[in-house]
Amino acid sequence: MDTSRNGDGAGLGGRQLWESLRAADVVDAEHRLTPPFYAEWQRLIAQVRGPSRVAYLARMLETQKTNITIETGEPVIVMDGTWIAGEWPSVAAVDADVGLFIALQRHVPGWDNLRSTEQRELLAHLRVCLSHCPSCDAELRPHAEISPSEVPTIDCSHCGAQLS
Ligand SMILES: [Zn+2]
Repeated sequence: MDTSRNGDGAGLGGRQLWESLRAADVVDAEHRLTPPFYAEWQRLIAQVRGPSRVAYLARMLETQKTNITIETGEPVIVMDGTWIAGEWPSVAAVDADVGLFIALQRHVPGWDNLRSTEQRELLAHLRVCLSHCPSCDAELRPHAEISPSEVPTIDCSHCGAQLS
């Protein structure tokens, strides 16, 4: 992604980012995802996890879908041509992040101006809000609050997908 657009005030770092999420009704005052945003995220995960996964990944990575390969292992590695575009703990986590990315892109002004590292960091933080596994739909241990400082380890007790 182009990082040169992050000049003075163009990016949304730290606290300002959370204020933007709040203003966009993505999170409430306690940093919990709002029900409408969560529902949209779930709908997007259902779209991403099917045969269109590569097309959605290409959209998130701003590349051609013919460039994308997914190497499923631990971790899952997504290649953009010969470059490592990203690593995730599971395909379920990929689907969660891609769905979340598209939802945030729709709702948060300035999202595209964030550095990709900032975007990834936020995705990892918000991923812990999942209440159901993106792969098998089993219920996950609920997480009431998003901590701005740490990302807990979560895995699905049903299919074993590691989500963070
Ligand atoms: Zn599962």
